[in-house]
Amino acid sequence: MKRGGWLAAWFCLCWIAALAWPTGAEGEKEKTERFVVVTTDEVNVRQGPGVPYRSVAIVHRGETYASVAEEGGWMKIRWKSGQIGWLAATYAAPVERMEKVTVDKLRLRQQPRFDGRVIGYLWQGDQVAVIQEEGKWKKVVSDDAVGWVAASYLTAVEAAGAAQTGVVTVDSLNVRTAPTLEAERIGRLGQGDGVEIVAAKRGWYQIKTRSGLEGWAVAEYIKTDGKQAPGADNEDAASAMAVEARFASLSKQAPGSYMYSWTRAPIQVLAGKTIVLDAGHGGKDGGAQSADGIMEKALTIKTAERLKQKLEKLGARVVLTRTGDDYVPLSARVAAARLYQADAFISLHYDSAEDPAASGITVYYYDRFADYGLAQSFQGPFSQLAALPFRGVAFGDYYVLRENEQPSVLLELGYLSNRSDAATAATDGYQEAVTTAIAAAVKQYFE
Ligand SMILES: [Zn+2]
Repeated sequence: MKRGGWLAAWFCLCWIAALAWPTGAEGEKEKTERFVVVTTDEVNVRQGPGVPYRSVAIVHRGETYASVAEEGGWMKIRWKSGQIGWLAATYAAPVERMEKVTVDKLRLRQQPRFDGRVIGYLWQGDQVAVIQEEGKWKKVVSDDAVGWVAASYLTAVEAAGAAQTGVVTVDSLNVRTAPTLEAERIGRLGQGDGVEIVAAKRGWYQIKTRSGLEGWAVAEYIKTDGKQAPGADNEDAASAMAVEARFASLSKQAPGSYMYSWTRAPIQVLAGKTIVLDAGHGGKDGGAQSADGIMEKALTIKTAERLKQKLEKLGARVVLTRTGDDYVPLSARVAAARLYQADAFISLHYDSAEDPAASGITVYYYDRFADYGLAQSFQGPFSQLAALPFRGVAFGDYYVLRENEQPSVLLELGYLSNRSDAATAATDGYQEAVTTAIAAAVKQYFE
């Protein structure tokens, strides 16, 4: 972003902040929230109420989100674990209620009439958002389309967290990561096994077992008893819908990330994520240099290569802005972030200062919205590093951050101008510890 643009954005930011947090009214505001459903194929969630704001996420048709405010044709929504974003109001509709389809192959029509053109089908158990009613017809939003269905084939979604229980009726029933036979199998149930049914979709149940197995199984092989699951939370309808919405958004992600967010396996948590690692300096640009002749450019590439392996082990696609001792202009480094649509851009550096006592690690961000969350996730892992002190998270006006449209941070991983820092930084032990900490931060950011 250009400096002028940034200033303008900052100005708007203050203004939004003033709107969003009126003195003492925050609690009130939370209570008045309602739900909206996305009505178009896919649409950007932005940092502010306008197209010039950066997109922070893409949401899809049928997903429901808590709407906390509206202004000038934009809806402020909570789109993920409490994060706030803005959605153009034309691509969403207020949800009157969530309802469940009671028959298979229910026709979804373009108009509220029996001779209305059929534009899709709904299946028993599908949950849809009702956005309008007309006589004996209800306009609903499913994942695939927005249309009208005969109201008599819809029923209220039982009061919320009212999870049902069921019993497996076959010898061996696969549990999968998604409601499709192509989805990866993550477990198996046997005849008589009890499950808690969290949701239903197209002939599938999303189930949970006492042992902690969570996933999808073919509904046909689970007999429900209609009783509420023991220990099920008595959440209200709103939070159940929020869960549903979160789930719907998960199912649209790359299969890998989807699966692992379910099973919480320690590996592959970064599947579907692209991380661009930028080893600072290179070629004719050596960067800082220690009294003993340790070059910053040589250290940063070492760090980048080690970190790449760690992130790849977690399932990420990792792109390096340089792989050898090459000179790469700053603009090309930023271009890589854009080209590969980086989910995170991490620039690796080692510091230098006139004060030979200056020591430790610093995390820099530029954009208060796009970068700060990423920067914050380093707080924990770096604080726990014993080798060097953590100086904290700070604003930094660096080209690779300022001109970067992707979430980006610049890490200064120790002072080469400090004898002790430099000696530490060059060790394998430090390289291992610091890359482990960075990987932990990235993991935390995406969790
Ligand atoms: Zn540097």
